[in-house]
Amino acid sequence: MNYFSFSRQVPVPRFGQTGKALRPGIYGNGLDSRAVPFFFLLLSPCPLRRDNAILTFLRLTVPLTHSLIHKFDALILGAGAAGLMCAVEAGKRGRRVAVLERADRAGKKILISGGGRCNFTNLYCQPEHFVSANPHFAKSTLARYTPADFITLVEKYHIPYHEKTLGQLFCDQSAHDITGMLATECRLAGVKIFLNCKVREVQHTTEFMVRTEGAEYRAPVLVVATGGLSIPRLGATALGYDLARQFGLKIQQTRPALVPFLLGPGDRTRYCDLTGVSADVIVATDHHRFREKMLITHRGLSGPAILQISLYWNKGKSIRIDLAPDRDVTAAIRTAKVRNMTAALSAFQGLLPNRLATRWLELHTPSAWTNPALAKLEQQVHEWNLVPAGTEGFEKAEVTAGGVDTGELSDKTMESRKVRGLFFIGEVVDVTGHLGGFNFQWAWASGAAAGRAL
Ligand SMILES: Cc1cc2nc3c(=O)[nH]c(=O)nc-3n(C[C@H](O)[C@H](O)[C@H](O)COP(=O)(O)OP(=O)(O)OC[C@H]3O[C@@H](n4cnc5c(N)ncnc54)[C@H](O)[C@@H]3O)c2cc1C
Repeated sequence: MNYFSFSRQVPVPRFGQTGKALRPGIYGNGLDSRAVPFFFLLLSPCPLRRDNAILTFLRLTVPLTHSLIHKFDALILGAGAAGLMCAVEAGKRGRRVAVLERADRAGKKILISGGGRCNFTNLYCQPEHFVSANPHFAKSTLARYTPADFITLVEKYHIPYHEKTLGQLFCDQSAHDITGMLATECRLAGVKIFLNCKVREVQHTTEFMVRTEGAEYRAPVLVVATGGLSIPRLGATALGYDLARQFGLKIQQTRPALVPFLLGPGDRTRYCDLTGVSADVIVATDHHRFREKMLITHRGLSGPAILQISLYWNKGKSIRIDLAPDRDVTAAIRTAKVRNMTAALSAFQGLLPNRLATRWLELHTPSAWTNPALAKLEQQVHEWNLVPAGTEGFEKAEVTAGGVDTGELSDKTMESRKVRGLFFIGEVVDVTGHLGGFNFQWAWASGAAAGRAL
């Protein structure tokens, strides 16, 4: 049985070993107002009416007796990568931890990550692989929970994995191996995971109170691990940002990142019928460049190189693409017996995908086959300047850049500097990694930092 999916919120007492229900009663929802008329019918002299009224009154009120107050040492909102890691670390330290998850299972994003094989970390993880308004913030957190730490855990569970490219580690079999591992770790650490929790309200007095549709959870500590806004169909919500605002924390503007670009109508007409064509390119903004694959899509450009640069791109700005890095594309034309389109096609098709080479020459036919004209052709293929019309947005973005301002948090524990006992971890924080396992590494590291501080 999948542990992640059996800890359902209702009926709650099934999971109450450490999460003690203090006393059953009418908490959280208040009395269902539909029950009121039936209450008065209870006084009716007609026995049939009275019996029906009793039944209806019980139906509307008795379920409320399942509403419970649960007391824990720590509440974690969100059973994603960061929330689960935090729960495990805190649970191992003897803390009674409840994870409240909105979805019907935990770790949904882990399951779809890395094409279903979860690129769970990167061997070459460095602070330079992260973007934040404060580029120094993530350093100490990342240093205290490294890729080697996560690999040790993966190896403890005998999960087969491999390095795909550039230090990116993927499961050999399935991302289920990672969620299974985290589920077991949670179980061993006594963590309670409550699924299908619709958070209605969060209050803070002497402790934190989270009210869901059917229950109330209390703890001196609240960890917000609700992730970003990307892929709303997987259940992404803005709860983390709303809570940050509720508690007066600053937020760096959020935007979709690691996301495909849309091309404007002109470029779309020129290139997008080449959907599926992929090339090894260098793509750059003024200060950043990535050498990886680029893919032409039916609406624009995608592939790892494009997703990476999207992290540094601002609307209205151009990007530069070198379609043939380190190659002298026109060398073969210059030395050809006859300089003409046939020689050019042969030279370009030797170095670029055929359809792209043909299209490029159609659109950039030199005015003559002179050395200066060939030099210009060479320059154009290395410096394709494009202004993307936009991005595919949160629907297709792998991550949300921006988020809870790191100036609000301790870099040792991820605790709010303003509100004692309130923590933010994972993607909801303004730390965004490059493509390649860095975002999970941030989730593990920030989750561990908070978990060890609870
Ligand atoms: C398609 C795709 C592929 C990816 N592949 C990779 C990869 O291979 N490697 C990599 O490093 N990164 C990858 N990422 C990014 C990575 O998945 C995230 O950065 C990471 O999951 C963030 O972890 P998190 O715990 O902060 O957030 P999440 O994993 O998003 O978890 C947040 C959890 O909070 C829950 N939640 C949200 N709102 C509420 C609420 N109101 N109440 C209760 N619970 C709530 C969500 O349901 C979710 O379970 C990928 C992302 C996508 C979209």
